[in-house]
Amino acid sequence: MAAQLIALRDGGEPGARPGAPRAAEKGHVVIDRVSIAFGKGANRHVAVANSSLEVQPGEFVCLLGPSGCGKSTLLNSVAGYVMPSHGQVTVDGVPVTRPGPDRGMVFQQYSLFPWKTVLDNVAFGPRLAGREDGEAVARTFLDMVGLSRFAKRYPGELSGGMQQRVGIARALANYPSVLLMDEPFGALDAQTRVMMQESLLAIWSEFRTTVIFVTHDIDEALFLADRVLVMSASPGRIIADLAVPLARPRQPEIATEDGFIRLKRQCLEKIRAESLRAFDQQNR
Ligand code: ADP
Ligand code: MG
Repeated sequence: MAAQLIALRDGGEPGARPGAPRAAEKGHVVIDRVSIAFGKGANRHVAVANSSLEVQPGEFVCLLGPSGCGKSTLLNSVAGYVMPSHGQVTVDGVPVTRPGPDRGMVFQQYSLFPWKTVLDNVAFGPRLAGREDGEAVARTFLDMVGLSRFAKRYPGELSGGMQQRVGIARALANYPSVLLMDEPFGALDAQTRVMMQESLLAIWSEFRTTVIFVTHDIDEALFLADRVLVMSASPGRIIADLAVPLARPRQPEIATEDGFIRLKRQCLEKIRAESLRAFDQQNR
């Protein structure tokens, strides 16, 4: 399966040529002094304040912060759904001005087309890009997320976890250089969530695309990421940039190791200080 995937990747990307960069060489994201405000006048609300971040190709970073701090807004500025009021986002040196297939998005709410089969959902992007082998690409990625058997089913017939795996396959089928994930496992039960995290890491270790993953769950961030960026309470700023030098591949038991617990304590301290500040603000 790995060989098949690599064959598809080397020869399969639209416009690919021999020696074209692989996914792991693309996906360099620079968020440069970005502020994002909504509304005007008295209704103006600053969601993200002066945030900078550089993500290397193939890196897995988590944006961690309390609810409402601006994580989705910052992620959406990389996706091209939201334009910064100040500053700039570039992906591989190109300023982001709109959504594009180089940036795959997976949302918390499974956003599949309910009237299309699982296979057609995943094949949608490649077909839109004019690929004649859209179905083969879709089958490869369905295989990767372990759902080949469900190709002809409809989303409504699948569990939440399975729908989210289809969502991941669908995003990857466009060969994005950056995979953007907004609390993708937030609606799943705890056991399914852990399985999804493991399966995401397995996929990432094979595909090596850059991942920016938003979560408010510290354990999830530490389990997944190479680096955790802690955001402050609203207006969101990046207040800590923690390397997570835990060995890979990671198993759930890692959460009981000393190194993990030390990192968790550091995150908790940052977030607690920030949550208290936010609570204070709301009650003033
Ligand atoms: P998070 O994802 O961290 O929970 P969000 O990025 O969704 O936070 O929201 C940050 C802040 O920006 C919130 O106060 C939210 O109400 C506000 N916000 C987000 N999107 C919009 C929008 N389209 N219009 C107005 N306000 C928004
Ligand atoms: Mg959000």
